[in-house]
Amino acid sequence: MIDVRDLTKHYAAAAGLRSLLPGRRGQVTRAVEGVSFDIGAGEVLGLVGESGSGKSTTGRLLVGLETPSSGTIRIDGTDSTVARTRDKRAFHRQVQMIFQDPYGALNPQHTVGELVGRPLLYQGVRDRAKVAASVRSVLAEVGLNPPESHLDKHPHQLSGGQRQRVCIARAIILEPRFLVADEPVSMLDVSIKWDIVRLLKRLARDRGIAMLYITHDLATVGAVCDRLAIMYRGRIVETGPVEAVLSAPSDAYTRTLIAAIPSADPDIVRVPPPALAQAAV
Ligand code: ADP
Ligand code: MG
Repeated sequence: MIDVRDLTKHYAAAAGLRSLLPGRRGQVTRAVEGVSFDIGAGEVLGLVGESGSGKSTTGRLLVGLETPSSGTIRIDGTDSTVARTRDKRAFHRQVQMIFQDPYGALNPQHTVGELVGRPLLYQGVRDRAKVAASVRSVLAEVGLNPPESHLDKHPHQLSGGQRQRVCIARAIILEPRFLVADEPVSMLDVSIKWDIVRLLKRLARDRGIAMLYITHDLATVGAVCDRLAIMYRGRIVETGPVEAVLSAPSDAYTRTLIAAIPSADPDIVRVPPPALAQAAV
């Protein structure tokens, strides 16, 4: 469903004060370098790598927040750059993104009802009753129950987990086919993390959404991802089913990531065999 081929994004690095440093002018940051993968309907692909490896840039390229330097992104066979320029609103019905900071992503002046219903208004839905019914339905689906008790609240009246649920509700209200979740639980308390992770997994499965789950740590991937793509310095160095990558990583970099998993909860991830864990040290 999502087909990414040879995706590349280069930035002219010499912006700001750094450009004044000798040798900086004209340098290029190769944020994403020849990345290819595909994601099927209902499937969650984990994009994992350390900070600065190009994960967010990849996510932004996929949802059209950035334009590729080269390469193609196809959604159901259609080139996404073409689809986006042809009909922006139709593109946004298909593709949505969830960010790391749910507070920063929500306008504090608006109520939950307004925030979640806004995409429908933007799509031209004028029937107030229809919007209200959809808002209530997605709020219930993301676990904000009863929906009525959340509709008139403002973001600051919610917990971090509830705010991320609002962001998720807003992202699914248009019934997208593809969702990019960029570090969606990195800022949440451990106690809430797993609920949100399981919610994302359930949404992908039940709604048949293709999902790119971006994270810098491997702790949560076992609970949400079907496959993993390990990213290092703009490139994908390893891909495979979650279990296979975690239990028998073929790449040295993947092994160092596995060694860095803080939680060794066997329900969450496969702990690497001792030989591999040693090799990674
Ligand atoms: P990650 O999400 O894996 O931490 P990013 O995709 O944010 O990595 O960044 C990858 C690289 O691209 C980094 O070196 C970053 O500094 C650079 N980069 C990201 N966005 C921009 C931009 N808008 N302009 C210049 N460089 C950027
Ligand atoms: Mg990032």
